Amino acid sequence: MNPPSPYDLSLPELQALLEGWGEPPFRARQVWEWLYVHLAEDWDQMTSLPRSLRERLAAHLPLVLPRVLATQVSSDGLTRKDLLQLADGETIETVLMRYERRRTACISTQVGCPIGCLFCATGQAGFRRNLSAGEIVAQALHFARILRAEGSVPADRPLSNVVLMGMGEPLLNYPATLEAIHRLSDPQGFRLGQRHITLSTVGIVPEIDRLAGEKSPSRGPLQITLAISLHAATDELRNRLVPINRRYGLDALFAACRRYISRTGRRISFEWVLIAGVNDSPAQAEALADRLQGLTAHVNLIPLNPTPAYEGKPPSRQAIAAFTEVLERRGIPFTVRLRRGIEIQAGCGQLRGVKREK
Ligand code: SAH
Ligand code: SF4
Repeated sequence: MNPPSPYDLSLPELQALLEGWGEPPFRARQVWEWLYVHLAEDWDQMTSLPRSLRERLAAHLPLVLPRVLATQVSSDGLTRKDLLQLADGETIETVLMRYERRRTACISTQVGCPIGCLFCATGQAGFRRNLSAGEIVAQALHFARILRAEGSVPADRPLSNVVLMGMGEPLLNYPATLEAIHRLSDPQGFRLGQRHITLSTVGIVPEIDRLAGEKSPSRGPLQITLAISLHAATDELRNRLVPINRRYGLDALFAACRRYISRTGRRISFEWVLIAGVNDSPAQAEALADRLQGLTAHVNLIPLNPTPAYEGKPPSRQAIAAFTEVLERRGIPFTVRLRRGIEIQAGCGQLRGVKREK
């Protein structure tokens, strides 16, 4: 068993611990700010705490940061992917993207993924375990520290966005994912607005309903953006690409999306990885437009990043044009995502795969 990490304690848990040690009530909040506002890397940096307390904390809750095993930077320098080693030796990928005036961390929620989408390197490698809330949050803190050290970013907001779109299916690790969202958006901690957090899911219907019922500290619904990885608009095709579709088919998924929008008032993003000759036809675009009629939605089209265990290819420019022409005509808002990370294998799970082959 590894000793507990301070990032795995909630504020009330930290309060209980420190009060149990006879510390004054304000101590927990002080430690909290060192962890999440000042991004301390070591208990010794927390100079406003008495030395004896720092020593006790260091012995009881070692502040161990994830170890960077490998880093890849894209040729334009705008995307960086780190392979991080966790306390038990498992590895995860986490990506920093700097464009459109944003500094976005793309973070993982599981080691591997049990869903097994055909084209996804994470899915191809199978599932190892869930991440703890602390392990999810630590990835954002990791890049926030790097950005702060580089300077030229607002000191109080080094990261501008977090997307839960790295390895794993966040809604299959629901409690830790929800705790991480609250932790990242904590006004007394990391202070990232919930509107700057996106959760990407393959579409676990009961958990989408559960998420729609969650409350933010202001008592209103969560303000995060929900992204659904759709990739196909007919059950016949989606059953093949995204195996969970056999359990939660498109009718059930879209009914859950409608309930989510009506309960939260938030629009939904739909992710569509375009694969040549598989799901890039105008007929799929029409079926997608049919599904999205009357929904407040946005479609992100992502040309496939090829992976070793899947023979699919990204679509031609003409195919993308034909697909988007349908969406335009049908009045569906969309963005075609640039493939900037391609040379650093920014598709999730790909760096980990390379490392394992070596
Ligand atoms: N499990 C969640 C979140 C992680 S996957 C989900 O599926 O939504 C994040 C996104 O990366 C998904 O939209 C997924 O479809 C996409 N993705 C996975 N493999 C990819 C690849 N080879 N090329 C492009 N996008 C990929
Ligand atoms: Fe899992 Fe998402 Fe990859 Fe599918 S695309 S295997 S749900 S990580």
